[in-house]
Amino acid sequence: MEKKIAILPGDGVGKEVSRGAVTILQAVSERFGHTFQYVYGKIGGTAIDEYGTPLPEHTLDLCKGSDAVLLGAVGGPKWDQLPGHIRPEKGLLKIRKELELYANVRPVQYYRSISGISPLRKEVVEGADMVVVRELTGGLYFGKPSERTFQEGKASVVDTLFYQKNEMERVIRYAFELATTRSGKVTSVDKANVLESSRMWRETAEEIASEFPDVKLEHMLVDNAAMQLIKNPRQFDVIVTENLFGDILSDEASVLTGSLGMLPSASVSAQGPNLYEPIHGSAPDIAGRNAANPIAMILSVAMMLRMSFGLVEEAEAVENAVKQVLEAGSRTSDIASTGVFPLTTEQMAEEIKAAL
Ligand code: ATP
Ligand code: MG
Repeated sequence: MEKKIAILPGDGVGKEVSRGAVTILQAVSERFGHTFQYVYGKIGGTAIDEYGTPLPEHTLDLCKGSDAVLLGAVGGPKWDQLPGHIRPEKGLLKIRKELELYANVRPVQYYRSISGISPLRKEVVEGADMVVVRELTGGLYFGKPSERTFQEGKASVVDTLFYQKNEMERVIRYAFELATTRSGKVTSVDKANVLESSRMWRETAEEIASEFPDVKLEHMLVDNAAMQLIKNPRQFDVIVTENLFGDILSDEASVLTGSLGMLPSASVSAQGPNLYEPIHGSAPDIAGRNAANPIAMILSVAMMLRMSFGLVEEAEAVENAVKQVLEAGSRTSDIASTGVFPLTTEQMAEEIKAAL
């Protein structure tokens, strides 16, 4: 199989873990006989430095002309003082809008071999295995107006939570489809006791549920969901929710595994290529030291192989290679217990490659 992959390393550890991703893709192409072509583009702070904008047109064109996009991370203290509209993070918001990435998919899985690093008790997290599906192109993050006004000596502010019904439908339907390949349960999270948008969300979930008789639908208020996630995470299979709630809950769910460096994500496009990225940021505190854990990025590669290219066996091979090196005791510093000498980013990627 021949595929063209756009690689946007971005800033900080994004650059380092992207190299790890390519190491693994090369191993996959050797073992399974595929041809992957890589095209590189700039995004985030590095793009601002060179082009004065966090998402140059040609980066976007390069993504649109590829079969999938792999993204490292954007941002860092160097760009923190810039005005809002040219911050590195704007590059991310823009690429989501431009590629119409409507569903952000984050699997959260408990790994027995590194159970010690989760801040939660083993009896609570053991066996937890869920996917958080977050709506990504609507809601509060994109609603207009979003502004501050100052009139007659009084300051006031407004943000707008706006959704079209079809934006709710497509992400909820995605979650139901996903649930049919898993344990068959969808937990739809909202705040229907207060918000009109949530009432429409809940109705929409009920409508979609009627298309999927084999999937069980449950509604949960977001405040309760935040509590249940750390109290009894095993109850969840697929969680689906709107943009802001999903942002918060997916970060919360990431605690179950114990390190941001372990968690991949996929953002599903309505028409163009999907985008795959680790959930962590540019980790400025460890950037440039070859110390970041590349596993989140490598598992994102596995998601890409499965979801964009239909290469299920290859995806499983990557996931199994990760499990194997973890079981053998290989650790980067974020998942190492005290006294264990950690591997570098490169060494970890090489070990996973060798296991492949
Ligand atoms: P953003 O604002 O971009 O979401 P953030 O504020 O959530 O970023 P991160 O950059 O994700 O922060 O880093 C949070 C913490 O997790 C830092 O201490 C960082 O070193 C650590 N971390 C993040 N990614 C990794 C990784 N791949 N390997 C090891 N540690 C990581
Ligand atoms: Mg963050």
